[in-house]
Amino acid sequence: MKKQIVIATHNTNKLKEFKSLFEGTPYEVLGLADIKFNGEIKEDGETFADNAVIKAQTIHKFTNLPVIADDSGLCLNALDGFPGVNSARFMEGLPYSEKNAAIIKMLEGYSDKSAKFVCAIALVGLEKFPQVFIGEVKGMIINEERGKEGFGYDPIFFHPNSQKTFGEMSIKEKDDISHRGRATSLLFEYLKTHYF
Ligand code: IMP
Repeated sequence: MKKQIVIATHNTNKLKEFKSLFEGTPYEVLGLADIKFNGEIKEDGETFADNAVIKAQTIHKFTNLPVIADDSGLCLNALDGFPGVNSARFMEGLPYSEKNAAIIKMLEGYSDKSAKFVCAIALVGLEKFPQVFIGEVKGMIINEERGKEGFGYDPIFFHPNSQKTFGEMSIKEKDDISHRGRATSLLFEYLKTHYF
C-alpha cells in the first residue's frame, strides 16, 4: 500500500502538478479537501520559510500525515524587499493590473529596478525537524506589463537571461528557471535520496 503525503493547498492546479511529480514514487498525494481541512491558517511569519513551516505544521497537527507547504512572493530591492511575505495581501481584492501599476509607480525615481521571486517549501512530518527548500530567481521590474501568460506579478517581472518577462513564458519555460521550479527540484532531490 502507498504511503500518503499532503500538499497544503486548495489550489487544484498546484495539486495536479504535485500529483504528477509524485507518480511512480511510494507516495499518494492528498490535498486539503481530501483531508477535510477547511480552517484558516494565520500566515504571520516574517519570512517565506517561517510561513511555509507554519502552514505545514498546522496541517501536520491536524492530520498527522507528512505535509508539504509553500510560501512565495516578490521582493523589490529598492524597497527593502517589499511586498515580500505580503505579496498576496498587497492591495488585496484589487486586480493584478492595478497592483502591477502601483508597483511600477512605487519604483519611479529609483534607478534600482532589481527584484527577485522567492519560494520556500517546507516538509514537515517525515523527520523530527522541518526541512525547508528555498528557490530564488532574479530579475527586473519593467515599466509596463508584457505578456498574457502566468499570473500575479509575472507581466512586470523581466528575466534578463531569457530576455522575456514571466508573462511571456510558457509554463514549462517558467518552471525551468522559476523560484517555485527551483525549490521543487531541491525538494525532489531530497525526497529521492531519502524516501523514494
Ligand atoms: P502564496 O500563495 O501565499 O505563496 O502567495 C504568493 C503571492 O506572491 C501570489 O499571490 C503572487 O502575488 C506572488 N507570487 C508568487 N509567485 C509568483 C509567480 O510565480 N508569479 C507572479 N506572482 C507570484
